[in-house]
Amino acid sequence: MGLLIVFASTAQTSVSTPNIILMIGDGMGLSQISALYVDTGYTNFNRMSITGLVRTTPARHKITDSAAGATAFSTGVKSYNNAIGVDHDTIPVPTIMETLKAIGYTCGIVVTSSVTHATPAAFYAHVAHRDQEEAIAMQLADSGLDFIAGGGTDFMEKRKDQLNLMDSLTAKGYAVHREPEYSDSSDGKRQAHLLAPKGMERYSKGRGDFLSLYTEKALKYLEARKQPFILLIEGSQIDWAGHANKVDYLLEELWDFNNAVGKAIDFVVNQPNTILIITADHETGGFSVLPSSKDYSKIKYEFASKEHSAILVPLFAHGFGAEQFSGIMENTAVYDRLLQLISTESAHTK
Ligand code: MG
Ligand code: ZN
Repeated sequence: MGLLIVFASTAQTSVSTPNIILMIGDGMGLSQISALYVDTGYTNFNRMSITGLVRTTPARHKITDSAAGATAFSTGVKSYNNAIGVDHDTIPVPTIMETLKAIGYTCGIVVTSSVTHATPAAFYAHVAHRDQEEAIAMQLADSGLDFIAGGGTDFMEKRKDQLNLMDSLTAKGYAVHREPEYSDSSDGKRQAHLLAPKGMERYSKGRGDFLSLYTEKALKYLEARKQPFILLIEGSQIDWAGHANKVDYLLEELWDFNNAVGKAIDFVVNQPNTILIITADHETGGFSVLPSSKDYSKIKYEFASKEHSAILVPLFAHGFGAEQFSGIMENTAVYDRLLQLISTESAHTK
């Protein structure tokens, strides 16, 4: 009686810390991607092994905005439109970057909007409304993100409180750049590349290959840190082109995003311990690809709206655990499934 039998320990350490690259084409529905095929019949999306569909609906509305959409991806919580990293009671919810940083991940964001815009903000900030970009900038300066690239200097240094957060970043040890810096200056410092007052220029109006060059640059930088990492890359202006109902703007932003996708896939091919997810927060514009007349040999593009739509959006996955991302899923499931790929605890057998 009372005999305690202690088996020899069969504890197995099960450690899985894949790199995560999450690429969001803001407003990029299936019709937008279809438009990429019209001229060439091939895109870098073809190189992705797994496809799924994502339901983007937020907590209270039928149709999401980018803040609630990004908050669903970053926290696994469906919140209200305009919410940045908070639940529907405006209570802050930990973001995937905060959670992973705590277990040793490095974190980066590369966007063509301001770095304080709704989509990137939801990954490091917690505010009740997306328009609080100065408050978001304050949280960015304290976020500990390792690599930051995009626009938004106005929210850092032209502030109502007179603070200069560009100087704060320097004081916190960041290498701060205001002009594109394409050579490798990886002296180990965290990097902030803030290259425009608000959003970056359009691709054809001065931004050029920023997105694909900085996708490469961020990946090279994070890899050199020799820790697992999570990197958010956003084609922010696909959405802006949709709101503006401008086909030429939309197509160039899509091609630009497609080029960045190619850089990310090249990385995953060489570093298979990486999961690459490409998806959208919602579709914008009710965009469609139609025959220009009864002649089906010619295409015309049309927008049904200047707003977002509730159309399911495509998801593409490649690399470590990609097969987990097939099927139809809620936007919050992207967060759930990413975290399920990661385990750092010892797994004890019974
Ligand atoms: Mg966005
Ligand atoms: Zn939008």
